[in-house]
Order: sequence, then C-alpha cells, then structure tokens
Amino acid sequence: MSGASALDAHLSDEQRELLASTAELARTTLAPVAAAGAEGAVNRPLLKLLAEHGLLGRLFPRENGSWRSDVSALDLCLIREGLAYGCTEAETAFALQGLGTFPLLQAGGPEVVDAWLPRIAAGEAVAGFALSEPQAGSDVAALALAAEPDGDGYRLTGEKTWISNAPEADVYAVFARTSAGSGARGLTAFLVPGDSEGLSGEHIELLSPHPVGRLVFDNVHVPREHRLGEVDGGFRVAMRTLDMFRPSVGAFAIGMAQAAIDATVAYANERVAFGKPLKDFQAVSHRMADIATRVQGARLLVHAAATAYDRGIRPTTQAAAMAKLMATEVAQEAVDASIQFHGAVALQRGHLLEHLYREVRAPRIYEGASEIQREIIARALFAPPRKEHA
Ligand SMILES: Cc1cc2nc3c(=O)[nH]c(=O)nc-3n(C[C@H](O)[C@H](O)[C@H](O)COP(=O)(O)OP(=O)(O)OC[C@H]3O[C@@H](n4cnc5c(N)ncnc54)[C@H](O)[C@@H]3O)c2cc1C
Repeated sequence: MSGASALDAHLSDEQRELLASTAELARTTLAPVAAAGAEGAVNRPLLKLLAEHGLLGRLFPRENGSWRSDVSALDLCLIREGLAYGCTEAETAFALQGLGTFPLLQAGGPEVVDAWLPRIAAGEAVAGFALSEPQAGSDVAALALAAEPDGDGYRLTGEKTWISNAPEADVYAVFARTSAGSGARGLTAFLVPGDSEGLSGEHIELLSPHPVGRLVFDNVHVPREHRLGEVDGGFRVAMRTLDMFRPSVGAFAIGMAQAAIDATVAYANERVAFGKPLKDFQAVSHRMADIATRVQGARLLVHAAATAYDRGIRPTTQAAAMAKLMATEVAQEAVDASIQFHGAVALQRGHLLEHLYREVRAPRIYEGASEIQREIIARALFAPPRKEHA
C-alpha cells in the first residue's frame, strides 16, 4: 500500500500511518496465521493476534475504566481497508467482532458489558450479530423469532440464518420479536451466550470464505439482564450498529479493490504477449486507469461518510448508503477486470485474485443489498424539502 500521495491528502499523517501500518501488519504477521486456519471456520489464533497488536483495542477503547462506544468511524474504515489489503480473513474477523459487540456496547447494562467485554476485546470470546432469518433478510420488519416473557427473563424460539461466526461464536446479539404485528417496532435485542441450553446450529458452506451458519433456538432462556435496551427498541439498536458499520463495509471493498489493482499493475508490467508487456496494450492500461479512478472516488465517498458520522452530522444514512453501494460495486469490477488481465493463472486455487473473487461478492448482499442502498438513496433524494422554522 503506497505512502503519502495526493490521493491521501484529506488524511492526517496519523491516519495515513494507521492505514499503512495496518496493511503491513496484515501482510506480514496476520496472513500466515490466516492461511494456517481452516476456511469457513472461526480462526481463534488470528483473533488473539488482532488483540495483541492493538487492533481490537481500537475497536473497544476504555476510558477511566469504562468501555466507550464512540469509536472513530474513519479509523474503523482505515483499519478495515488496511486489513483487507493484506489479509481478508483478518479483516472479517476484526469487523465481525465489532458488529456482534456494538449492540451490547451501546445498549447493554453495565454488569453484562463488564462480564463480556474484557474477553471479547482480548480476542478470547468470539461475537456474532444475529438478525437475518430464513423468511426475513432485507425485510427486517418480517422477523419472526419469538421472545416470550418468562419469569425473570424471556424464552426465545425460532431460527436465524446466514449468521457470520455461527455456530461457533461464544456470544450473539440476537434480534427477536416481542410484539406481534408491529413490524420493525416490535423487536427487542438480547445477548445470548453460544452455550445456552436449547441453542444449536450448523455451518453453511458458502462461496464466501468466512464462517457462516444457522442457529436454532428451542425455548432458550435469556435472563432479563441480557436484554439490550428497551422492549420493542431492538430495531433502533440494530440500525445504530449498522449505521456505524456501513461505510466501513465500503472500506473493506476498497482494500480488496486496491490489492487487485496493485497486483494487476505489477503483472501487466512484467507479463509479455505479442512481444510487449501487457501494460502497453491500451485496452489494458485504460481499463485499469478507469477502475483506479472509480475506486479512488468510492474511497473518498467512504471516508466522507465516516467523517460525517464522526462529526456528529445526522442523518448519515444517505452518505453511508452511497459509500457502501459505490465501493462494493466498483470493487467487484476491479477484481473481475484484474482476473481478466491476468488470464488463467488468476483462477488457480490459492491465487490472490481467486481468493478476492470469492470474497468480493458477498458485501453487495449483506448489511443491506445494493438494491436496498439505492432505495435509501432514492428516498432521501425524493424526500420533500424540510420546512424551516420561521
Ligand atoms: C457472507 C454473508 C454473511 C452474512 N452475515 C450475516 C450476519 O452476520 N448477520 C446477519 O444477521 N445476516 C448476515 N447475512 C445475511 C444478509 O444480511 C442477508 O443475506 C441480506 O440482508 C439479504 O437478505 P436475503 O439474503 O434474505 O435476501 P432477500 O431479502 O430475500 O433479497 C433477495 C434480493 O432481492 C432484492 N431485493 C430485496 N428487497 C428489495 C427491495 N426492497 N427493493 C429492491 N430489491 C430488493 C435484492 O437484490 C436482494 O439481494 C450474511 C450474508 C452473507 C452472504
């Protein structure tokens, strides 16, 4: 990953250093540990390394003995971009730990936070974010997993699917229905330990290399203290978490796109066809110039959305949706074109681009598919102008 350049002029020296050092750490230290893990399974040594090198500490900072939930969204983006550039598995492990834990951080009682955060921040406990169900993906208002009041807590019954880190995670933020017929306003968030009685699950094999699974809740008892926030306030907990993380999904995509571009530039310099290097074919060089330009545009949008979040500008929904949409779509194109300009060698199992091709697809679907992002952008675009107070 290149150092200071005109393309990074909007970043401070510290921010550039965060990006560059994270990419270097990913490439030299994290990638070998990721490679030693099994695909589709949680890699616990990798998570421990993320803690030991201070990255989980940036996700879960402490101040005067308390855990803070006001992490810089831009720092989060720079870390995710750097990790994705050097080691996608480390990126995903890092991001999922944040996604699974933010509902607890923002809405959990102090006792539950203190019981779990030290282990999560140390990379000893693995977290998961359990929202999606077989009949409710994009349409969160259709969630059906039921939480019935029961003595000093609740009983959860139903199913979650496509949950990253499931069924291996040690703890899940689970979104369940507490009021029937109330759509998104009838959901409540809970913290559910992975070893709870009645909770079972299985891995799902996916094109995407990271661990994903299904969870079945059979009358799972959850104590009242494990409720995260208000009854029927779960949608807000989920959306506040996703608002925080959405630009950084774009950063993940940008890190992958940049890795693909750099690999292709190197390859096009050395690979000779018809007596000249590939870079001397304008079909190659201009296509890569277009892609590099669009990736940089998307990157600036990602950084702008994150900066708006950090400055307390609200809502950031439209900016975050634009950032995620553009970054994930252009990253897919960058990886695809890079494969094209490598030829067959890029499709060989184990090649960086073969790996990125499998990684780059899912972010266009999760945390709001591209079509949902367009819906969000269109709604803001066509919203009637706000009336100013006299
Ligand atoms: C690798 C991976 C990891 C995941 N990890 C998690 C996780 O950790 N936790 C979790 O809760 N979920 C997770 N998911 C699930 C993910 O959030 C859902 O797949 C996503 O929300 C889409 O839901 P769905 O797959 O049910 O598709 P559906 O909601 O059935 O939609 C299918 C397609 O229909 C189109 N569509 C849907 N609604 C609209 C609309 N309003 N307008 C226009 N087009 C529309 C879109 O193209 C969409 O992709 C993960 C998914 C993947 C692939």
